[in-house]
Order: sequence, then structure tokens, then C-alpha cells
Amino acid sequence: METRPTVGIAGLGRMGHPIAANILEAGFPTIVWNRTRDKAADLLERGAIWAENPGAITRTADIVLTSLADPAAVDSVYFGPDGLLDRARSGTILVDLSTGSPALARRIATAAGELGATFLDAPVAGSIKAATDGQLGIMVGGDRAAFERCEAIFSVIGKAAFYLGESGNGATMKLVSNAILATIVQALAEGVALGAKAGLDPVDIFQVLGTSSAAAPVVVAKAATVTERAYLPAAFTLALMQKDLWLVLGLANELQVPMPATAIAHDMVLAANATGKSGLDFSAVALLMEELAGARES
Ligand code: NAP
Repeated sequence: METRPTVGIAGLGRMGHPIAANILEAGFPTIVWNRTRDKAADLLERGAIWAENPGAITRTADIVLTSLADPAAVDSVYFGPDGLLDRARSGTILVDLSTGSPALARRIATAAGELGATFLDAPVAGSIKAATDGQLGIMVGGDRAAFERCEAIFSVIGKAAFYLGESGNGATMKLVSNAILATIVQALAEGVALGAKAGLDPVDIFQVLGTSSAAAPVVVAKAATVTERAYLPAAFTLALMQKDLWLVLGLANELQVPMPATAIAHDMVLAANATGKSGLDFSAVALLMEELAGARES
């Protein structure tokens, strides 16, 4: 009988923690590390093994998942002292589930390859609920054979895994997706501010939008959050959205692709964060647009 691979997870934030819980629940031997150890407490009680640093994961794990805030965190967890690549053994597969930079993904893939290891960039679609329910969409770039070896893991944490070709392609796909998501939310925020200032009830606005051709899933999903201004607890923060849109614009700049709507969405997310909203749900650009329009009494 084939033995189950040992799975390591570095990064137990809002996304990484439920992902790790599902891996553990599915019966894989699981090793975890997080910068802040407390977040691992319940996983350790349920049988996960603690690693003192990322390098201690790659010493024993066959497949290593990372879910980290931003490229700076990914860089330090992979390349830092006692980092994942410090100890990666030949045959190890490293899989980054974070939303990150395609160029960094290619750099990690090259460094991993020099050690005989493999790296997949595999950012995810879906938020905390999808992560908790094992229903993420996974966008994967890198070696196809490594992708196939990870399918058993992907099927535990997700509902669909898409193989998209060479290293960096998973990261690129996620940036495309979040550019579109952010521009939809910016358009929604403007429309709601206009309607509310003109005297419409925001609840009515969302009810009508929900039955119209403007009813993107995010419009329906954020109806209660926006109308009730219930932006906490955040699933996906404005801080993370600013990071993603900055990565989008960096890629667009590198490739000479004009993205005017995304540039505006980025600036409005930046403005929201500059006025103290970075910890709120990303749909709180609607709060900013209401404030700018003087659209609603608080
Ligand atoms: P989060 O809750 O803020 O967690 C971030 C994780 O990164 C934590 O484990 C944090 O450690 C770690 N970290 C941050 N800086 C670090 C550093 N310098 N060195 C080492 N570790 C560091 O974020 P999240 O919502 O789980 O998001 C994780 C990734 O998934 C991000 O790339 C995000 O864009 C992406 N994503 C998120 C969602 C969502 O809905 N939340 C959806 C799709 C994709 P500490 O616990 O010590 O702070």
C-alpha cells in the first residue's frame, strides 16, 4: 500500500489555518510552522507536529504548502536563514498558495530546481469559507508531473485545480482574477454611493442588482456586508487587495499593458487604507465611496 506523503504547511493565517486543518483531518502526517506560534495551538492538539522554523519542515515533509501574506514574507520563508530552501531535499515539492509575484515564483522554481526539488505557484480562488469547506479553486504553474503528484492534496483543499503551464502562470492567473474582482467592486461602490445619495435604499439597490445582469457573484455575496456596513471580521482585507493590485500594476507595467480601470481601483483601495480601513473587508471601498460622496449618515 502506498504510504501517504508527509505534508508541511508554513503560514497559518486566515487561509493557511483552515487549509492545514483539512490536510490534518484527511489523515496526512502534518508538520506546521507559523511566525506566530499561537495560531498552531489547536492543530498541535489534534496531532500536527510543530517545526521550529521553515527549514525544519523541508527536512521531513514530502510536500510543503505555504500561505503567506505577501512577496516579502514568501521571500523570507523560502530564502531566509533556516528557510524552506535551506533544507529542501531532492524530490520535495514546494507549493505556494499565496497570491504573489510571477517573477518571484520563477525565481523560487529555479532555486528549488537546483536542489532537485520542485516548486509550484498555486494561488487560490475563494475566501475563508471556501478554505474551511475544502472548496478552493487552485491555479497552478510549474512542472506538470509535480502538479499530478499534488492532486490528492489539491482535492482535499479544493474543488478544482487548474494546470496552467509554466512557472509563474498560476500567479499571473490569480492577478488577472483579482484585477477583475477589484474593478467590479469599485464599480459597485460607486453605483451604491450614487443611488444612496439620490435617495434609494441600499437594501433595494442590492435586491434589484441581484436580479440584473450586473449581478456578479461578488455583488450578491457582499449585499449584507455593504448595506449593514459589517466589514469586520474581514475575510479578505483591503491590505491584501492593495498588495494584489500593486502586483497587477507591476506586471502590467513590465508587459506594457494599459489597465486604466485597475489603476483607479488600486488608487481607491490605497485611499481606503490611507484613511484607516486596511483591516476591513475589501468591499469596504463602498464605505470610502459613501464617505467621499457624503451619501449616507453614519
Ligand atoms: P493573513 O491572515 O494575514 O495571514 C498571513 C500569514 O502570513 C500569517 O501566517 C502570517 O504570520 C504570515 N506572515 C506575514 N508576514 C510574514 C513574514 N514576514 N514572515 C513570515 N510569515 C509572515 O492572510 P490570509 O488572508 O490568510 O492570506 C494569505 C495569502 O492568501 C495572501 O497571499 C492572500 O493574498 C491570499 N488569499 C487570501 C484570501 C482571503 O480571502 N483571505 C483569498 C485568496 C487568497 P503571523 O500569523 O505571524 O502574522
